[in-house]
Amino acid sequence: MSDATRGALVRFPAVGCRFFHSGRCLFEELLNPGLHTEWRCLVLARWESVYDEFIDRAENFGLSESELGALWHKRFERLADEDVPCEDLRAGDGESMPECRYLQEDICLLRLPVCAGQCERFRLRENT
Ligand code: SF4
Ligand code: SF4
Repeated sequence: MSDATRGALVRFPAVGCRFFHSGRCLFEELLNPGLHTEWRCLVLARWESVYDEFIDRAENFGLSESELGALWHKRFERLADEDVPCEDLRAGDGESMPECRYLQEDICLLRLPVCAGQCERFRLRENT
């Protein structure tokens, strides 16, 4: 057994850590929210990019806010019906958009670093 493997095996479980969420570590994300764009939900990133394009094009037509809102509503309905750019999406029981059990605000738990047990950043979760 290598030293690295032995080290990982003797770490205590980190479920009580305030940064622990479904086996992943939220420490970096909470320290610098949004810095790691590679952790963002792929579906939200796609929707955002479509929205940006939509706004760019709409600006040329001088539409009012309510006209824009109505147009975007229709565009988003079509967008939400399209195939999502993520094979890992799994239905959750919340009301998130997209509805995926791995969505944590706007980031994807599957893309976060794995927690390998208690580390030097471990902080006990406070009772709420
Ligand atoms: S698994 Fe879920 S949260 Fe992660 S990128 Fe896919 S849809 Fe987004
Ligand atoms: S124990 Fe360390 S790696 Fe695990 S969730 Fe906490 S801070 Fe992150």
